[in-house]
This record gives sequence, C-alpha cells and structure tokens, in this order.
Amino acid sequence: MGNLKYKRVLLKISGEALMGEQSFGIDQKMVARVAAEIAEVRALGAEVCVVIGGGNIFRGVSVAAKGGDRVRGDHMGMLATVMNCLAMTNALEDIDIDAVPMSAIAMDEICEPFTQRNAKAYLEAGKVVLFAAGTGNPFVTTDSGAALRAAEMQCDAVLKGTQVDGVYSADPHKDPDAIRYESISYNEVLKQGLKVMDAAAISLAQEANIPIIVYSMHEPNGLVEILQGRGRATVVSG
Ligand code: UDP
Repeated sequence: MGNLKYKRVLLKISGEALMGEQSFGIDQKMVARVAAEIAEVRALGAEVCVVIGGGNIFRGVSVAAKGGDRVRGDHMGMLATVMNCLAMTNALEDIDIDAVPMSAIAMDEICEPFTQRNAKAYLEAGKVVLFAAGTGNPFVTTDSGAALRAAEMQCDAVLKGTQVDGVYSADPHKDPDAIRYESISYNEVLKQGLKVMDAAAISLAQEANIPIIVYSMHEPNGLVEILQGRGRATVVSG
C-alpha cells in the first residue's frame, strides 16, 4: 500500500468504453476487463470509486437535437448510467470484489441513495463505490458528476481512461502535428478548449485541487502504473 502515489481515486469511464466493438450497449467482455483492473488496484490497497457515463445507451442532447425536452432526455441519460453501474457491480461481484452502487436519483429497490457519509464509510471499509445517475441534475454530464463526487470523497485524483495516452493539442488520430502534454494546468486546458473533460468538471476539479490524470485504457497494467505514479499519462493540475 505504501507504494501508491494516489490512494483514494475516482475512476471515470465513458459509457462508450463499455461498448467494445459494438455500436450500442454493453459488451460484457469490456466490463469484465475494467472490473479486473479495478480488482488489481484494490489488491494494492487503493480505495476506488467509479463514475460511468451513459453514452453507450443514451445522451440527453440527442433528444434536444430533435426538438424534444432536454430535461427528460437527461433523465433518460442518467438512467443509462445506472444500467452501466449495475453491469459493473455484477462484474466486480463475479470476481469477489465488494461493490456498492449508489444513485443520485432515488430508486431504493435497485440501489441505495447516494450520501457522502455512507459512501465514505464504504470506501474506508474497502468496498468499491459506484456513483450512478451522475449528479442527479440535467444539463451536465457524468464528467461533472465525477469531479463532484471526487471532491465530496476527497479523492487524491480523478483518473480518466481514454483512447490515447494523454492530453494532446489536437486529436492525434487526425492531426500528425498534435503535441502531447506530460502535464498541463487546468487554466490552460480551459483556455485551449482541450477535450479532457467538460469545462464545468475542470473548474470543479481545480476548485477542489484534485489532479485529473488522463491515460490510455488500452495499456496493459495501465491503472496499476498510474496509481503507482509511473504510468504514461498527462497530469492536469495547479
Ligand atoms: N446526465 C445528466 N446529468 C448528470 C450526468 C449525466 O443529465 O449529472 C445525462 C446526460 O444526458 C448525459 C447522459 O446522462 O448525456 C450520459 O452521460 P455522459 O454523456 O456523461 O456519458 P459518457 O459520455 O461519459 O458516456
């Protein structure tokens, strides 16, 4: 446990990361893979909380784009995140990791309501806590939910797994001149409009002084190395 740079972390996983090769929904193989990585870092003594997006199932903006009610669309998006959290809870339990899904929207029969106090107690008891339904409010995304819960849980870092190994000045898959940052400030990310997390989430992380660590989800042992402070990643901080 002593060799961990970040002891209590919040892992933000986009819904799309759970699609795998599919174009929609949940690929159980991907969910199992992420669960196995969480188990590895739990074994090192890390306290892990998880926020999963819902983009693999539903996003509120898709309703708004067709002239529908954004708020109701966002409610549907938040329900999508609950489904993803339940799938991840199952996958964690399958490998004997204690996991507790907590929802920002009351749905007692399915998962318990989020309270900061109970969530902290679960983390301290070594359980993985999954924060479902984002912030519980429309007009924001699960990035904001991740930053908010990380602040409430006093996490040492938000870990954002992506398709590439850090933050670039442009999409490295499209622009061969894209520059990769080893570290970058919150203000610079906001100023350049870099696609790390949405602006509200960056500001919240800045306010709470929690670094955001952007790393590749495709690196074997990636998560373990990040927690040990030696993985290839971009650190967004100060
Ligand atoms: N959402 C919301 N409030 C929140 C979090 C999520 O309204 O606090 C809705 C919103 O419609 C969003 C959808 O849930 O588009 C899925 O979340 P997100 O887009 O963040 O998923 P990701 O892109 O990470 O898969």
